Formats: sequence, structure tokens, C-alpha cells
Amino acid sequence: EPSGARWAYSFAFSILLFVCVALHELGHSFVAMRYGIKIRSITLYIFGGVASMEDIPRDPSMEARMAVAGPGVSGIIGVGCTLLSIQSAILLGGGHPLTTLLWTLGVINIVLMIFNLLPAFPMDGGRVLRAWFASRMAYVEATRRAANIGKFFAIMMFFLGLFGGGILLVVIAIFIYIAASDEERSTAIVVPLEGVKVRDIMSVDLKTVSPETPLPEIMNLMFREKHRGYPVLVDGRLAGIVTISDVQRVPEEKREKITVGEIMVKSIYVIEPNADAAEAMKKMMERQIRRLPVMDEGKLVGIVSRSDLLRAIEICSGW
Ligand code: ZN
Repeated sequence: EPSGARWAYSFAFSILLFVCVALHELGHSFVAMRYGIKIRSITLYIFGGVASMEDIPRDPSMEARMAVAGPGVSGIIGVGCTLLSIQSAILLGGGHPLTTLLWTLGVINIVLMIFNLLPAFPMDGGRVLRAWFASRMAYVEATRRAANIGKFFAIMMFFLGLFGGGILLVVIAIFIYIAASDEERSTAIVVPLEGVKVRDIMSVDLKTVSPETPLPEIMNLMFREKHRGYPVLVDGRLAGIVTISDVQRVPEEKREKITVGEIMVKSIYVIEPNADAAEAMKKMMERQIRRLPVMDEGKLVGIVSRSDLLRAIEICSGW
């Protein structure tokens, strides 16, 4: 067989496989969007993929329907390709590349459907399971149970892969384990914060500094007032933020001659007072920052830090 044709076949196969995975994800996204949930990004994985939602739906039946849509699409493609491959076998012969292509795609899509329906949270089947738990108990507890079952599946897959199942299964197992832990943790953080607004937990006794402040002065300030970060104002406008770690990065002997304006972080992310506390938490986790200035119509009205959020989580999950 000429290697050119081989290449063309492999290329077409890869593209089509990618399209099938994308369609699976679009199945999820389509249902999500019909419920008005914004999709921020779709990350494609060979065994299904994860569409990252703006908000996790808290309505169990909504989540179940959304989770089932992806494997549903895979199933339809799988059956369709299999039927077409039978047609192709009749018309072109069983050994024809098109027949092989359609048959392989059909089988892979059906495997994809079955695999994604395993109750291994956060895979689709696991989401259905979580939805089922969630209709019977609190959301955080439902997630914890589903995640534990997901982790159990991951451990089984890991050993199955290790003892003959293949390296791909090991990789998937590790992925599921990490994803289950991540989602369990983020649910435990985000859910208690629901309904809490940034304005309820932000610090309003604002201590600000100017860009001309010398570093020894701001270090004294941090030491005395026990704040780790300060907004930097120029003519009443927010120009940046300076934290204890920005100061510590400057060698001690040079601090005398350097001012806040030279080391402050100018690209700042801000949040509105009416935003959800959960959103503030998400922003901080994504950008790996510890505090957000709170801006109301261009005016600095407060600052919200991770410790403010953690305190709120502690209080709210204690009810
Ligand atoms: Zn899926």
C-alpha cells in the first residue's frame, strides 16, 4: 500500500475523530445554552472533553439533561457511522478504506458514549449520578459522594491500565481522579458563597498609598496595620496595587531609594460591590491573586481579600 494514501487516511481519520469529540461537546453546550448557561470555553479531550460552564447548574434535572446530551450525540454518530459502513461495504466492498473509516468511527463513538456514561464523576455519567444525589440531599454533600465514587472508579481504571489495559487508561484514570478532587473542592468553596455579595464581606476602611511612598514607609505601614496589600491612588484614581511580596522582591539595600510607583502591579483586576462573592473567589483562583479592589462606577469603595472570602465560607457553611 502506498504510504501517501496511508497518510491521507490517517489525516482524515484524525480530523473526523476530532469533529466527533467536538460534536459531543456541542451537544452539552447546546442544552446548556438553551437553559441560558454561558459556556466560557470548551476543552477537547480524546475521551469526551470538558465544556467549562460559566455557572454550574444547580437544578438536578437540568444538569442531568445537559450531561446526557454529549453521550447522546456520540451514540447517534456511532450508530449512524456503523449503518453507513454497512452501506459502504455493500456498495464498495468490505476492504474499502471508506468502509474501514466509517466502521472505526462508528465503534469509537459508541465506545465514547459508553465510557462517558460510566458513573465516574466528573465524567458525564458521574454528573447524572450527582444530579440524582442532589435531588435527595444538599449539593455539596451530593458532589462529595459522586466525587468519591468517581475517585473509586479512577483507582480501578488506574490498576486496570497498569496491569494490561494500556497507558491511555492510566492517564485517563489520573485525569478523572484530579478532576473529581478539583470539582469537589471548588463546589465546597463556591456553594456556601452563593447569595453572598462582595459588598457584604469587603473591607471598607480603606488604607491607600500614593506612588511616591518610599518602600521603608509602606513596610512600616504593613507592619503596623497588618494589611498585606494596598491600593495605590493617583488623584483619587486607582493606579495599581502593592503587596508585601512585591516589596520583598526588592533587595533590602535598595529599598531606601525605591518608591511604590516603581514596583506596584498596574494590571489590576477589579470587581463590583454587587458581584457574587463566589465570582470574586473564582477570579482570584483563576488569576492566582489574593485580593481584588472593589470598584463602583469607577470609584474605589473597598477591597476584598481571600481571607475575607475564607471567613465568609467558614461562617456560611456553619449554619
Ligand atoms: Zn461529555
